[in-house]
Amino acid sequence: MPAKTADLHLHTTFSDGIDAPARVVELAKQVGLAAIAITDHDNTEALAVAQPVAKRLGIELIPGIEMSASAEGQEVHLLGFFIDPAHPGMVQHLKEQQARRIERVHEMVKRLGQVGVRIDAAEVLTLAGEGTVGRPHVARILLKHGYIASLPEAFSKYIGPKNPGFVPGSPLLPAQVIRVIRDSGGIPVLAHPIYLDRDLLIEQFVRDGLAGLEVYHSGHNPEAVRRYEEIADRLSLLKTGGSDYHGTSKEGLPVGAVKIPYALVDALRQWKATVPR
Ligand code: AMP
Ligand code: FE
Ligand code: FE
Ligand code: ZN
Repeated sequence: MPAKTADLHLHTTFSDGIDAPARVVELAKQVGLAAIAITDHDNTEALAVAQPVAKRLGIELIPGIEMSASAEGQEVHLLGFFIDPAHPGMVQHLKEQQARRIERVHEMVKRLGQVGVRIDAAEVLTLAGEGTVGRPHVARILLKHGYIASLPEAFSKYIGPKNPGFVPGSPLLPAQVIRVIRDSGGIPVLAHPIYLDRDLLIEQFVRDGLAGLEVYHSGHNPEAVRRYEEIADRLSLLKTGGSDYHGTSKEGLPVGAVKIPYALVDALRQWKATVPR
């Protein structure tokens, strides 16, 4: 029997992933994962859809989310594990944040128009469908209309932090988002710290209630993994990890591209059982 493993960072069509929740669970089964977390951007609707599939296939589905915040003008992504998606504070937050994301698309389209890039917000919103809209949907429409030759080009030329079409994903501070996660029974974890690349901010987030660090991530090379393991140990943070699977809407990495030992899932559960909110 090989050791049990988990992939705790997966996206579906309820945010910017390409695959429906049931398909993501099937892919997880195929690669032999014992546990997964679906962590859509500012959305929990995949969880109820995926749960019966996970049950049928004998996979443990941890209710998760990836929430946007801003610190010092930087995008901060916070993962929440073992959240209660029905918690009123979470429901209200997501309703507001999803509305902000729709407003943001209109603002991005307006700014892109000012540099001669003409796309239609309605087309972006239709592509997002029932899921939370995000920059990858804008990128796909830019690709469709020939403004870029590949999706990463959208983020280097038009909608990345230094580009004319950039609009931050959320005006809220990490402290506020961490509070929503904790109030809903969840464990707040800083996602892919390499993307933020401001290690000093992590200590502030810990004072704000952060409980874990996503040490293992498809964007972390071995040196980054070592660095974040050290930081997590120094600050007594939980360690999590996952592939950040999006299907072909990002790099096309497979489910299970990052697998972590199941012991880290046990540590999360242990924390939840013992730490007061
Ligand atoms: P949003 O939450 O709307 O700001 O969109 C963030 C998402 O955009 C991330 O989760 C990735 O899926 C995608 N993304 C961000 N940067 C890049 C990049 N350089 N190349 C491809 N996808 C990216
Ligand atoms: Fe994404
Ligand atoms: Fe992220
Ligand atoms: Zn993600």
